[in-house]
Amino acid sequence: MKALLVIDIQNDFLSQGALAVPHGDEIVQPVIDLIEDPSQQWHRVVMTRDWHPYNHISFAKVHKLPDFSPYTYHSPIENDNSTQEGTLWPVHCVQGTHGAELAAPLIEEQRKIGCHVIDKGYLQDREYYSAFNDIWNYHRTELNNYLHCHHIDEVYVVGLALDFCVKNTAISASKLGYKTTILEKYTRPIYSDEKSMHKLKQELAENNVQLA
Ligand SMILES: [Zn+2]
Repeated sequence: MKALLVIDIQNDFLSQGALAVPHGDEIVQPVIDLIEDPSQQWHRVVMTRDWHPYNHISFAKVHKLPDFSPYTYHSPIENDNSTQEGTLWPVHCVQGTHGAELAAPLIEEQRKIGCHVIDKGYLQDREYYSAFNDIWNYHRTELNNYLHCHHIDEVYVVGLALDFCVKNTAISASKLGYKTTILEKYTRPIYSDEKSMHKLKQELAENNVQLA
């Protein structure tokens, strides 16, 4: 059974948004067409939202640093001294704001087909990219359970941004045992230079994620 995962197509990641992904708007209608394509026979469609508290740890402002500063995250788990390198973002997708809402045509589609919406990023003290878990893989969202309950064994991932939340959701899915494909045409990256794209493709291949 196959599921379509529609990642973070929210106002803040579209033009006019706080963290606009270049050309992100171009995928909105194609994604809706893909959801509705009868030949795809999606057993389930899931839409995800980045859903942060106002003072989320990934916001540069919280650390009084410039947007896009590099930042070393420390594990939020007691007695775990591990660290991870990350990027601090402009304030985005704050719970309850317009920026955090799904793009209007997706809200309409969600209501029409009644598909499940899954939030991530709501614990203040940790960054998330994957819709399955935080960057430490300690906190899990309900996505894996939901897919299991519906007998999904194959996932297709689309949305924003290709090189962050789409990539990490796909890698999590693959590690969890799903046959995983990113449909590139229905995604857009933040960094589209050749070097970044090469690195991305390598990482996907290493993790058994197909790019179609
Ligand atoms: Zn975020």
